[in-house]
Amino acid sequence: MPVGTKTKKDIRSLCKEDLRTFFTEQGQRAFRGNQVYEWLWKKACYSFDDMTNISKETRELLADNFVINNIEVDKMQRSEDGTIKNAVRLHDGLIVESVLIPTDTRTTACVSSQVGCSLDCNFCATARLKRMRNLNADEIYDQVVAIDRQSRLYHNKALSNIVFMGMGEPLLNYKNVLAAIEKITTEEGLNMSPKRITLSTVGIPKMIKKLTDDGVRFNLAVSLHSAIDAVRSKMMPINEKSDLNELLEALQYWYAKTKKKITFEYVVWKNINDTRKDADALVAYCKRVPSKVNLIEYNAIDDGYFQQADVAAVAMYKTILEKNSIGITVRHSRGKDIDAACGQLANKS
Ligand code: SAH
Repeated sequence: MPVGTKTKKDIRSLCKEDLRTFFTEQGQRAFRGNQVYEWLWKKACYSFDDMTNISKETRELLADNFVINNIEVDKMQRSEDGTIKNAVRLHDGLIVESVLIPTDTRTTACVSSQVGCSLDCNFCATARLKRMRNLNADEIYDQVVAIDRQSRLYHNKALSNIVFMGMGEPLLNYKNVLAAIEKITTEEGLNMSPKRITLSTVGIPKMIKKLTDDGVRFNLAVSLHSAIDAVRSKMMPINEKSDLNELLEALQYWYAKTKKKITFEYVVWKNINDTRKDADALVAYCKRVPSKVNLIEYNAIDDGYFQQADVAAVAMYKTILEKNSIGITVRHSRGKDIDAACGQLANKS
């Protein structure tokens, strides 16, 4: 078929073996496939022309047959506190957001897994965007590469951690998220330790069991926000499909096999979950599976139905959790001035 009339394939959808086969079919050495694979992943090269150890003819052959659908950072915003938010343009023009969060000891990338989200948690800005599509593995990988480069440039250190807490529900894009993590953690990719990666989910029991069965080695965080079904269902419709008991059972299954504590993410809201009864329910839940709690500050996104609870309520939670020897961290928002904080990602920039 003459060049130009066919739809070119995204070269990064090919595995290494596919690339090797491509070259042998072209009468070249399979080893070329390894070289190109290294350019594509380890070196995160987005242009065939830049693949300098490949001959010009071979680079043209690649360009005639394939495209590289890399992401582009469309707009970068820097917060007063060093947080960077990227509006990332995908090859089809859609936009997602990803964030770099620096602290004294680490830099963390918060990446998106879907364009928009289908889950309708009613405190989250991303829920207002309808789910458009899943990200491909390479689009997730590229966000990490972009943030690693920014981390080196602006903070003089390599990226140290990754959290899947950007837009979308990672467990509803299971295959691509796991493929991305595989690439991020392999020596042929970014060679990062899975211990430094955390996947945050609304809590889909069936998929948590699948993660367990698949033997993943990264960390799991669950957006709990309430350990009382009636309260949780009101703000997170997913809880009506699978309640707290079902979730707990999946989490116990996870712990039994991985021996990894679960992190519960939890926002305390005024008049919603700020009473002693709410805190006691959380303690009781945490006691049933090895876990720790991240109390996250609420980032207001709406008309005021949800409001951050008083300092006293957060302190009450902290005291009760500590008394019961449950690990607790109180997290303050970062990058609020640029709408980069949890739940604020909504393509506003
Ligand atoms: N879908 C995944 C990951 C995206 S949300 C999940 O639900 O975990 C990342 C975290 O931000 C979740 O814990 C979510 O509950 C929390 N979050 C959402 N909106 C928020 C807001 N307005 N303020 C603070 N945290 C919020």
